[in-house]
Amino acid sequence: MAWPRLSIDLDAISANAFEVCRRCAHQGISVTAVTKGMSAQPPVAFAMLEGGCHSLGDSRLENLVKLRQAGVKAPLYMIRIPMLSQLPELIRWADGSLMSSLLVMEKLEQCCAAARIHHKIMVMVDLGDLREGLWPHELPLFAEALKKCRWVELQGVAVNFGCYGATLPTREKLEFLVKIRDELSREIGRPLPTCSGGSTSTLELLEKGQVPAGINNLRVGEAILLGHDTNTGSSLSWLRSRTMYLEAEIVEVRIKPSVPIGEIGYDATGGLPSYNDRGERLRAIAAVGRQDVQVDYLEPLDPGVEILGASSDHMILDVEAMERPPKEGDRLRFSINYSAMLMLTTSPYVAQRVTGRSARPR
Ligand SMILES: *Cc1c(COP(=O)(O)O)cnc(C)c1O
Repeated sequence: MAWPRLSIDLDAISANAFEVCRRCAHQGISVTAVTKGMSAQPPVAFAMLEGGCHSLGDSRLENLVKLRQAGVKAPLYMIRIPMLSQLPELIRWADGSLMSSLLVMEKLEQCCAAARIHHKIMVMVDLGDLREGLWPHELPLFAEALKKCRWVELQGVAVNFGCYGATLPTREKLEFLVKIRDELSREIGRPLPTCSGGSTSTLELLEKGQVPAGINNLRVGEAILLGHDTNTGSSLSWLRSRTMYLEAEIVEVRIKPSVPIGEIGYDATGGLPSYNDRGERLRAIAAVGRQDVQVDYLEPLDPGVEILGASSDHMILDVEAMERPPKEGDRLRFSINYSAMLMLTTSPYVAQRVTGRSARPR
């Protein structure tokens, strides 16, 4: 056993996937589970599929390769607009991808033709979040180019909310997306099956019955993995939020003053720190640091623990208020947010323990 360690409850994740899928299915919406938050770890992906998600999406080609090699049979989607340099690999591993560039789409067609591989695309439309996506008025030109494609197959349209612009989805914006899909279908001359109305942040609208007919797919990561919606700041009450936690081992416990002694310069991260004088306090050091996670994304689960800061390998805790102070070798628990999950599952120094019945390849 090694620490720091991330404990992941696969049953909770699978239960969340089931609940998201159940609510979406009521409105004719399929769920693409987004695995990037956990570096596409196969057991987590299988738990998502077990919950009823019909396909998987990830932003990294390496992750899609990992999923396929682990035996995932479900469709795999690249949900970051692809790099030109990765197209030949992309079409080998992904069934489809999101697209927002005419140039990339034309190169994709060439690659697909050369390899004789069909590839699905969803056109990203920017409805104000200002990350990726075509402006609606650019779509006719895109449609013209698509008509010439033999190997690239347009499946539909998709939109992002809450990424760069932190915009929230609305009924009006989603109705507009459906309209764009219908216009594009007319221009292409065949019905486009898919209209993907965003991610976790659209679930709140779904709950209120405000997702218009025509929207038939969502790409959901955070709600399934953490039962939480960062964009609205809400824990989704109908999902399980205790899906995972971090455990770190205590390596020093000592009483120390709350203000450093001597002249103060820049800290380990290049910041100029300031300190509150609270007198002498019981401190503990946990063996986890900025190389693993940004510690302000952690929330202590043990009462009386306060995170003071961290350098690359040491997290400093105030444990004065703990009823039973920790000693070296003890482990404390922390809940994590989406950003912490991203970092912790990327650090090679963080061990993992998965609990819950093991999901098998399908
Ligand atoms: C990350 C991502 C998602 C999933 O977002 P969540 O907030 O985790 O549900 C969906 N679509 C795209 C394009 C993404 O990059």
